[in-house]
Parts: sequence; C-alpha cells; structure tokens
Amino acid sequence: MDYYAIRRDKLRRLVRNSDAEALLVTSFTNVTYLTGFTGDDSYLLVREDGEVLVSDPRYTTQLEEQCPGLDLLIRPPGMGMRKAISKLVRSAKLSRLGIEGNSMTVGLHDQFAADLPKVELVVTDGFVEQLRLIKDKLEIGCFHEAVRMAQKGFEVLRATLHRDKTEKQVAAELEFSMRQFGAKGCAFPSIVAVGPRAALPHATPTDATIGSADLLLVDWGAHEGMYRSDLTRVLVTGKISPKLRKVYKTVLDAQVAAIKAVRPGIVAEKVDAVARGLIAKAGYGRYFGHGLGHGLGLDVHEAPRLAVGSKTVLRPGMVVTVEPGIYLPGWGGVRIEDDLLVTRDGYEVLTSTSKSFEEAIVDC
Ligand code: ZN
Ligand code: ZN
Repeated sequence: MDYYAIRRDKLRRLVRNSDAEALLVTSFTNVTYLTGFTGDDSYLLVREDGEVLVSDPRYTTQLEEQCPGLDLLIRPPGMGMRKAISKLVRSAKLSRLGIEGNSMTVGLHDQFAADLPKVELVVTDGFVEQLRLIKDKLEIGCFHEAVRMAQKGFEVLRATLHRDKTEKQVAAELEFSMRQFGAKGCAFPSIVAVGPRAALPHATPTDATIGSADLLLVDWGAHEGMYRSDLTRVLVTGKISPKLRKVYKTVLDAQVAAIKAVRPGIVAEKVDAVARGLIAKAGYGRYFGHGLGHGLGLDVHEAPRLAVGSKTVLRPGMVVTVEPGIYLPGWGGVRIEDDLLVTRDGYEVLTSTSKSFEEAIVDC
C-alpha cells in the first residue's frame, strides 16, 4: 500500500474544500510526511491532478530511493527555487495558490507575490498538520522501532552506570548505544540530570557526576530515521529517603491514572486534569508546572497537547506522551514519561521500560 499517496489524496480533499486550487508545501517536515523524502530544501506542489516535488541535484539519488514514481523537478544550476515554483504555477495556470501559513516566511511570500502578480496567495492553516494528528500503520511501525531503540539504549545505560561518570558522559554513551541499535540519533538532546538538576525540566547535561546525588533523571528518545520516541525514567542511585519515595509514588500514581483515562472521545485537558488533581491532592500542585503530555511524530512535540485548556478530542491513531512531574527546587525532580497510541477502545502503551520504584534502584 502506498501510504504516501493516500496521505496526498487526503490533502487534496482538504485543498478542494478550501479557497485554493493547489497547495505549495514549504514545511520540510510536511514534505517528508507526504513523500517519504527525508532531505530538505525541497517543496511539494500538490495540485488537483497530481503533485511535483521541486528539489536540486544533491538529492537526485536519494529521491529515486525514497520516493520512486514521484514527479520531480530537479532545479538545474542557476534556477533558484523561486523561479522553479513560479514556472510551475504559471504552466499549471493556477490563479489561487494555497500556501502554508505556519511555514512560509513573510520574505518568501512577498517574493512569490512579486513573481506571480496574477496569482492570489491563499494562506492555509495546518492542513498537513491536521492529517499528521492521526497516525497510519506505516507510522505506528516506525514508533515501535523508535521505542525499541530507545529502550535498548537505556538498558545499556542502566547496566553500565557508574558513580564516577558525568551527566555528559552518560548522555554521550546513551546516544552511542541507541545508534548501535539502529537509531539515526537522538530524538532530541537527551536530558541526564542528577539530584537538584533534575528539578529543571529541560536541564542540559553537565560535568556533575552520577555519584554526587541520590537520583538521576533521564529524558531521552531515539530517532529511527523519521519518527521519534520520548521517555523519561528516574533511577535511584543513592540514599532512599522517605521524601524520594513519596514524590516518586505520587508521580507514578498520577501517571498510571492519567494513562487509564486515555480513550477516544475524551477531551485532552481532562486527561491532564486526572494527573494534576492527584499531584495537587498530595500537596505538590505548584511543583508540576508543565502540561501532561504532547503529540509525538516526525517532530518530538506536535499536536495534540495534553494540557490545561487543550480542547482537542482524542481520536484513535493519535500518539501522545503522558509525563507528569514534580520538581522541588534545590532538591530534585521526578518525571515519568511513556508513549501511548490511542486505540479504538482505549490505548496501547508503546513503551515498556520498567517504572516501578524497586526496579529504579541501581547499585553504582
Ligand atoms: Zn521527554
Ligand atoms: Zn515529552
């Protein structure tokens, strides 16, 4: 089955119902979604009668491999993207060209407006992003791979953890392991944060050693080539205090309860409210300062958001993270994050790395 052709047909339907006659896709991520081509500097013109990918000679071989059969316009030396697009639009006799409002720059818009004075540029809002919300079978297969690579990498991290290693070393080794298991790289810069640094939800690795504190927070994911996984686990590397136990249990209970609330038809903010309510009840409400989760896909953060005020209704095929946390300045933080697929009758947790407190204890 040609999943990319199906996606382009769905997009054509959206364009047909808009004021535009065709859509110029300028977001490289959206081009990847619609064609399977993972390079950049290429735009896709989707018309009623077909589509053409405008690229340059650096990508000729890659394009043949990644999207055989797709109509290509390889720009010869001297022909800029601007000129190529204008030529295509003119030869298709388009009078209303849709552009992606979330991607096209004001500068590029003004250039096209000058080049194509007889063509109306119709700003569209998130047509491709709307399609990307619901993952198809091809995408779900990629998620399974991205999760496998990330979890294998974490197994190595856990088995080789040593108190003298620094956050930076652990982060580098984690990336190396994931690559050895087939990943293209990290899904995003890994967070490896010991003790008080774990109170920073977006901490960057430093020279602090694992042995310098009692806990280690790792937020990581693998990039399998297109899709990304995103997990967080906390490892207990030192003294087990009652406070650590309590904070960990509160986060885990909130995470498990929120996962159980995931099902088609529920409004995203309600899932967030389940976790937020439990954390508040335990007295840590003001220490959970971010949303519960986010959509995952070609980008590490995409729609839908599971957060206060998010009115998106969950639908089968959406992939989201569930990641409550408690961050106590000067002490540390605990966040637990899994990736979920919304299914017809509920959800499937794609990630399986243990999150029990007992199994979080490592001797290093
Ligand atoms: Zn994460
Ligand atoms: Zn996340």
